[in-house]
Amino acid sequence: MSELDGKRAIVTGAGSGIGRATAELMAEQGARVAVVDLDADAAREVAEGIGAQAIAIATDVSKAADCDNAVATAAAEFGGLDVLVNNAGIIRRSTVCEITEEDWDLVMAVNIKSVMLMSRRAIPHLKAAGGGSIVNTGSGWGIQGGGQAVSYCASKGAVVNMTRAMAIDHGPDNIRVNCVCPGDTATPMLAEEARQLGEAPGAFYADAADRPLRRIGQPRDIASAIAYLAGDGAAFVSGAVLPVDGAGTA
Ligand code: NAP
Repeated sequence: MSELDGKRAIVTGAGSGIGRATAELMAEQGARVAVVDLDADAAREVAEGIGAQAIAIATDVSKAADCDNAVATAAAEFGGLDVLVNNAGIIRRSTVCEITEEDWDLVMAVNIKSVMLMSRRAIPHLKAAGGGSIVNTGSGWGIQGGGQAVSYCASKGAVVNMTRAMAIDHGPDNIRVNCVCPGDTATPMLAEEARQLGEAPGAFYADAADRPLRRIGQPRDIASAIAYLAGDGAAFVSGAVLPVDGAGTA
């Protein structure tokens, strides 16, 4: 029997990068997965690659009506829910003096408001199932600061402490809430950061690999930690903030 056999899961931002690797790994481990992403084509492609265990739901996680629809659709399709992975995220590399109000609001809406919008609809389903697991994707920059990323750092710091608050509130319903904090990981987001900073991707990636384990993360490295926290092997783990970063924040 696989670790996630029979679990019914939603993964947001699953059209790309860490979310995609997580949806694929969770399905390999026996879960049924709703692949939720802003990019409808990407979500469909990932779900088709996984096969009959997966469905695609085009969703803007910053919009309440979209989140309501995503949770309702997944719960109806699977007959309930056991796992929610709040993973969708964006970055804007700028200081507090440079960032526009629009970009600030967008980063906050996608990275932190979405956790509220998705979780408030998923939690009643997890409770009805007798408990469940929520895993939020934070960042190393949720536990320490970083340059030219003020809105991202603010949003990920909020994800980290919202994780703890939710773990306290929903523990009595046997709902575990944890957070993974990836270090630099080889996804389109990392390439987008290099582009925003006007840096060559090669040099940017080399800098990012300057950490004790001497490499950047691969999406599967982060997916493994998320799948662990989603599964029953982590039955007494809640309110945890787990760096998955090659000791980058050690
Ligand atoms: P990614 O490859 O860019 O994937 C993010 C996915 O989220 C994309 O498919 C994106 O769709 C989707 N998305 C963006 N806005 C959305 C919205 N409003 N509603 C629904 N989906 C939306 O990035 P990633 O690196 O895998 O990032 C996943 C998570 O890991 C994020 O929370 C990120 O902050 C975190 N993280 C990443 C790193 C890293 O180095 N990669 C490090 C620490 C933390 P589009 O492509 O259409 O925009």
